[in-house]
Amino acid sequence: MTLKRKPRKPKGPPVRTPRTKRRDPALALPAPLERRRFRARLLAWYGRHGRDLPWRRTDDPYHILVSEIMLQQTQVDRVLPKYGEWLAKYPSFEALAVAPEHEVADTWYPLGYNIRPRRLQTIAREAVARYGGRLPSDQETLLSFKGIGAYTAGAIRSFAFRERAAILDTNVARVLFRVFIGRGDATRHAMKRHLWRLSETLLPSRHVFDFNQALMDLGATVCVARNPKCPVCPMSKSCRHLASMQ
Ligand code: SF4
Repeated sequence: MTLKRKPRKPKGPPVRTPRTKRRDPALALPAPLERRRFRARLLAWYGRHGRDLPWRRTDDPYHILVSEIMLQQTQVDRVLPKYGEWLAKYPSFEALAVAPEHEVADTWYPLGYNIRPRRLQTIAREAVARYGGRLPSDQETLLSFKGIGAYTAGAIRSFAFRERAAILDTNVARVLFRVFIGRGDATRHAMKRHLWRLSETLLPSRHVFDFNQALMDLGATVCVARNPKCPVCPMSKSCRHLASMQ
């Protein structure tokens, strides 16, 4: 009778089969139908409730830049009078570039966060020195300006140059997080990246200007940080945050 030998164990450390990384299902991008519904609801709501703001009536990159920098951390009603005053005093990059710095700081008062007028003037000087008093329209060059980040670059490209460029500021991030994610830590780095991807994925091929303005308006007037107005929100049927609260 022959005895069967036990198979020898291979020498060396045990070989582990690599684990496949499990994707967080909350970070999946919406299906095409869900994207279409979101766009249609948002644009229909904006058509009825969008705010008439002076920087929405221009495609001048300088005017758009001024409004975007003023609106950082500052409410629209405080920006409105200053926006007009600023453009009357400094109607172009050239005018701002040569203005005395103390006068620029005084004109900015009382908006606060006083680094902003300095940034604006630095951008103006660079635009004059390197680009003939204009802003370039491509993302990479815009980002090379000190004081222009990813959000501002997207705003300039979509509002001034009408390009298909995504935006993500605090208001937009809050809307996208609530509608498509619902609960969790919105400030995680991975979440921020995902929200940028979401904002890009949701962009329509037409009406990008209105779409981005609408996202900002929804976050500023309906899906506000505290006590969002869900009963009048166009996203209430599909909002994961609202569903998780019921
Ligand atoms: S339903 Fe409520 S939480 Fe959801 S997006 Fe609208 S306002 Fe925000």
